[in-house]
Amino acid sequence: MTAQRRRRASITVDTEAPYRDGELGAYDYARVLEEFGARGTFFIADDIARANPKLVEDLAAAGHEIASHGTEHPYISKRPQQRPPLLPGIGEAELEDQLGTAYQRLSALAGEPRGFRAMCFETDVSVMRVVAKHFKYDSSLTAGQAAKFKLPPGLVELPVSTFLGGGLRVGTPLFLGPGSMLPLSRLSRATRDDPIVIYGHSFDTIRCTQRLYTSRFKRFWYFERCGPDRIDVIRRIVRGLIESGIMLQTAAVLAETEAPLRGAVSERNGQQGQRSRQADQQAAGEDQDM
Ligand SMILES: [Zn+2]
Repeated sequence: MTAQRRRRASITVDTEAPYRDGELGAYDYARVLEEFGARGTFFIADDIARANPKLVEDLAAAGHEIASHGTEHPYISKRPQQRPPLLPGIGEAELEDQLGTAYQRLSALAGEPRGFRAMCFETDVSVMRVVAKHFKYDSSLTAGQAAKFKLPPGLVELPVSTFLGGGLRVGTPLFLGPGSMLPLSRLSRATRDDPIVIYGHSFDTIRCTQRLYTSRFKRFWYFERCGPDRIDVIRRIVRGLIESGIMLQTAAVLAETEAPLRGAVSERNGQQGQRSRQADQQAAGEDQDM
């Protein structure tokens, strides 16, 4: 037996703007990580990369990983009924076109992106097939979902961590809600996943000043809790992980060195993948992710 290796974790930030300036909180995440000499992974929606290329360049210049969060996130304030455009069912050719555009733009700004995360964690087998054409790893599932998912050959899945005893992902809802009260230094004990993949959103630290036409739950328990005071919650999470002896790395590094779930292997499971939202709703009973 070799000496026990250190547990690893990645802080991943979905960079999108459901309301004005929501993407700018990516800078807050970046600064907190840099305070600790760590780097994170920013899954950036293509509409953000198009509107604010400097954000992508700044994050990359600081050493953070740039990855793709698909094309255009639905803007809740403007188009309340619109579903995310990257959804199963729109056809692989159109999907490929959309993802190709996103991939090219990020490549031009920051070098070839390796990772992809589906908007609202919504994916399926056909989406994954297209993802595999451009990207090396996907991070749109939980470990429980990935085990049942038929990943395309060559694609690595880096699952988002969930809390023990439930399918809830370790991410933004925690930072906005009970996060400030939980003993965050124990976060590493709240999940069994190794590596630990935590997800946040750029808008976590940006106060919402717009009227949002969304569900009551999302307004009161999600967007209205965002703001600069969350920066300290993020700082405590990062400090807690480091003080627990956990090594922080980018998702790309974890996917290359750690990810246990590869397309070629999990194909043996033989089960068709399902939309992750369905599986997650069963597990969590909530629809609270972006
Ligand atoms: Zn998102």
